[in-house]
Amino acid sequence: MYKVTIGLEVHCELESNSKVFSPAVNGYNENPNANVAYQDLGFPGILPVANEEAIKRALKVSMALNCKTPDEIIFDRKNYYYPDLPKGYQITQMTKPVGINGYLNIEVDGKIKKVDIHDIHLEEDTASLDHYDTYSLIDYNRSGIPLIETVTEPCMHSKEEALTFLETLRSLIVYCGVSQARSDKGQMRCDVNVSVSDTNELGSKVEIKNVNSFYNVGRAIDFEIERQTKILQNGGVVEQETRRLDDETGETFHMRSKVDAVDYKYFIEPNISPTPVTYEMLDEIRKTIPMLQLERKQMYKSKYDLCEYDSDVLVKVKENSDFFNECVELGADPKKACNWVTGMLMGYLNTNEITIDKVPIKPVMIKELIDLIDNKTISSKQAKEVFEDMVNTGKEPKDIVKEKGMMQITDDSAIHDVVMEVLKENEEQAKEYNPEKTRMIDFFVGQVMKKTRGKANPAKTMQMLKEELAKYVK
Ligand code: ADP
Ligand code: MG
Repeated sequence: MYKVTIGLEVHCELESNSKVFSPAVNGYNENPNANVAYQDLGFPGILPVANEEAIKRALKVSMALNCKTPDEIIFDRKNYYYPDLPKGYQITQMTKPVGINGYLNIEVDGKIKKVDIHDIHLEEDTASLDHYDTYSLIDYNRSGIPLIETVTEPCMHSKEEALTFLETLRSLIVYCGVSQARSDKGQMRCDVNVSVSDTNELGSKVEIKNVNSFYNVGRAIDFEIERQTKILQNGGVVEQETRRLDDETGETFHMRSKVDAVDYKYFIEPNISPTPVTYEMLDEIRKTIPMLQLERKQMYKSKYDLCEYDSDVLVKVKENSDFFNECVELGADPKKACNWVTGMLMGYLNTNEITIDKVPIKPVMIKELIDLIDNKTISSKQAKEVFEDMVNTGKEPKDIVKEKGMMQITDDSAIHDVVMEVLKENEEQAKEYNPEKTRMIDFFVGQVMKKTRGKANPAKTMQMLKEELAKYVK
């Protein structure tokens, strides 16, 4: 039996007002080398200044990952030379990361698995390189963007577990509001460590560096499992090495072996004074951590009795889940609110490719709409019409119902008046009324509906007609 083991090192860019050690803008710029300050270019003698907001955001993710936080924030220098790193070292954390010894619960095949987090640290991103045939271009816009690196223990044992961990971590970061964590924009990248073993010991670790999408993480894992298993089957030994994924073929290839391992000569960054991490600071940050995706899903199923599928749909986007929660807090029935949110509302958002904040709809409107159906003011068919109007105009459902003259007539005397009118106009038929012949009563119901444009309550209409027509029977 071959046992697969996977550990991940996941980089994610944080959003912030400025870069992590410089005042340059942290954001997209179509012009290369536009968002740069001296620090990002590695000018000698320029001092880095740690961005407090970035530190707080990193601590937020650390706490959401159940990590132990440090007593102070300090940084370390990781020394190596590469053209995308103008200073010759990266400012990162090694001595005291923003978090250690945490965990993240993930759900695989309906079961909860705890993925242990070794540490999470805050560091600066490097510049980006564009390689051409005979030359390369450097863009320093990315240099100095705050990056958090989450390192798991080697505790995952399949591609599914690794990909689910990545999805869950991504959702945690997005729910925390610290980054959009979009891998299609290069905000999330990952080093994938895979080993295969036929004993109780862990096999030699093969690291695939800088994989740029979850899809490619899956391909890298598939390829490595197959490659390493074959080596073992043939009686060979898997070498500990660092490899790269070829995006075109989905195959990994050798980059460097253990003997060439880089010694980074870490030491504490002397130019940044320590930031104390106080209880007050941690408390403030903790208050801003929302209930996360998996916990919400579990609550929807157990407390509101929603099905697996609906719960999944609701928690996929935090803002939609927040919207639904507010409907329920206002007193809406969870199942009915869920139907409106996952059905009509999300349908509308998907069709128009927009997010909920772009729509003038408020949770209280869904609650009102449900009330209008419950107290029989409108039918559920009419409610859909009201919804369409509401989602486009932001008008209150009550006002829309009034404007469109949609109210069902439930007032007894009003219906009675119409019933009497209809009987008077159709006296001949009324005289021939026979309670055994149901088709005849249908005729009268039809007449009442015609006069009220379908708004008379059908049950009441039927009952009154029967009573009045009975008087005609000799
Ligand atoms: P290094 O000292 O080479 O940086 P670490 O032990 O710190 O290696 O681990 C780096 C990453 O590799 C972690 O994500 C860890 O979970 C993973 N890892 C370590 N050993 C193995 C292994 N035998 N198989 C799979 N992943 C591993
Ligand atoms: Mg790193």
